[in-house]
Amino acid sequence: MRYAVISCPRCGRNRIAETKSGTSGCPSCGRRFELAKARRHFETDSQEQARFALTALNSGNSDTREKVGEQTGEDGDVQALKSIGGQLERAVAVAKTLSTDKGDFSSEDFIELAARADIKNPAKVLESAVDAGDVFEPKPGRYRAL
Ligand SMILES: [Zn+2]
Repeated sequence: MRYAVISCPRCGRNRIAETKSGTSGCPSCGRRFELAKARRHFETDSQEQARFALTALNSGNSDTREKVGEQTGEDGDVQALKSIGGQLERAVAVAKTLSTDKGDFSSEDFIELAARADIKNPAKVLESAVDAGDVFEPKPGRYRAL
């Protein structure tokens, strides 16, 4: 068995995957992706070594994430979103940020930014925001906040 330490292409979460698996689901954001396309940090035949590499990678993780944020220029947005207390309020703020950037947005766009803003269970929170009338669904699968 061969193991790789990979990063989710959507949320950047690091994890161990068996390289023979074709696709993998991210436990953090739910994204399914082809392992071949994921960023591979380390590859080994030993599960123990893979765990060790993952721990080492995660210990520098907050630093890495900050750098990613700087590169995309969105770090300020994410920081501001994280400072909002309630999950629903934060979700609405995420939706407004996306609407400002893109007009309307998909649930995937929402989940990506919501995951970075530490919203738990973003798909469900998005539903709640739609139910509460804070976020509109002008077309199936497309969302917009006013
Ligand atoms: Zn992910």
